[in-house]
Amino acid sequence: MKSIAIIGITGSIGLSTIDVVRKHPDKFKITLATSHNKVDQLKSLIKEFNIPQAVITNCKFNNKNKGIMYGQESLLQILEDEKFDVVINAVSGSAGLIYSYHILKNNHKLALANKESLVMAGHILTGMSSNIIPIDSEHSALFQIMNGLKPNDVKKAILTASGGPFLDTPLNQFDHITPEQALQHPTWSMGNKITIDSATMFNKGLEAIEAHWLFGFDYSQIQAVIHPQSIVHSMIECQDGSILTQMSIPSMQLPILYALTYPHHIKSDLTKTNICDLPPLIFLPIEKTRFPLYYLTIEAGISGGLIPTALNAANEAAIKLFFEGKINFPQIYEIIDNYLNDFNNITDPDIDTILDANKYVFNEVYQSL
Ligand code: NDP
Ligand code: MG
Repeated sequence: MKSIAIIGITGSIGLSTIDVVRKHPDKFKITLATSHNKVDQLKSLIKEFNIPQAVITNCKFNNKNKGIMYGQESLLQILEDEKFDVVINAVSGSAGLIYSYHILKNNHKLALANKESLVMAGHILTGMSSNIIPIDSEHSALFQIMNGLKPNDVKKAILTASGGPFLDTPLNQFDHITPEQALQHPTWSMGNKITIDSATMFNKGLEAIEAHWLFGFDYSQIQAVIHPQSIVHSMIECQDGSILTQMSIPSMQLPILYALTYPHHIKSDLTKTNICDLPPLIFLPIEKTRFPLYYLTIEAGISGGLIPTALNAANEAAIKLFFEGKINFPQIYEIIDNYLNDFNNITDPDIDTILDANKYVFNEVYQSL
């Protein structure tokens, strides 16, 4: 029986993890769970799974519920004091970094959904531990494929992207895209932030940076393609031209299960793919005029240092402005691009510098309008 801590249990990844645990109660026991705002949902999960420790990380709530702890510091203390077989970081956005840092600092195995952690501090986190198992479906695919390969035999990684809801929308209609339309993802049901990032293709850029840090690929070895069916979760092209892939119907339960059972593929009927039922598989290049944010994130990844943190914080602020109706959809890109043009980079920033810059950039961009 593996003891699992889930940070961000009430989100999309957290709830998919719960489905995995429900299906395999003999294999996994949730021993710590956190939410940030959803008090009632956390309480009902504590009851259903008999979870011995829980934290609400948002400090605006305080000591109103018996048996639940409050605030980020309480969670960091538990990570220092307790042992878990694996800790899942399923927090959304830059808020997840502090947890990834403390999970690794306290020598826990990290099952990582929060890609922003690696985008902001990949140089620090990958230097702290090799105990990071990706949950992001593309990286889980690469992780599974690379398991059987020698690093020198690998030519490049090919990340797949669904293309989001605006793959075929005429470009002259982009100014009128509403948040509701941007939240309609064609193949995946996810939290709001990553859904908007998928619509702009910012998410795929973050994933290229994530792949760079997890697997040591140079940016010239990372290609991303649009694959609207979301069946092929990514590919590795070998030096000899052979292309290896991992496939399944779109389901986050599969990469979560693998992160919990690695290096084994245990018997499970959670994700069933009937190969004869699959639609034709299509692969397309990413158009620069339609998805400029993908290309901007790659440039930010190559620049490195504090730039990816500034990029991500500016994006979080721009998304908030978009939800509030203060900017239109194409302005998400314009705001980030303008901000980065004047940003003074720092190479090899430490964790405090990154966390400070994240707050500073978010506020600057958010308050600029
Ligand atoms: P959600 O928004 O659905 O869930 C986020 C979770 O984090 C919730 O439990 C939320 O609590 C908690 N949370 C929010 N803000 C904070 C904070 N400041 N401090 C601590 N906890 C917080 O996100 P997703 O599950 O969609 O995504 C989580 C991560 O996984 C992201 O980094 C995303 O990119 C990545 N990912 C997600 C995929 C998906 O299918 N959803 C696929 C691949 C990667 P509460 O609900 O109480 O507010
Ligand atoms: Mg992904």
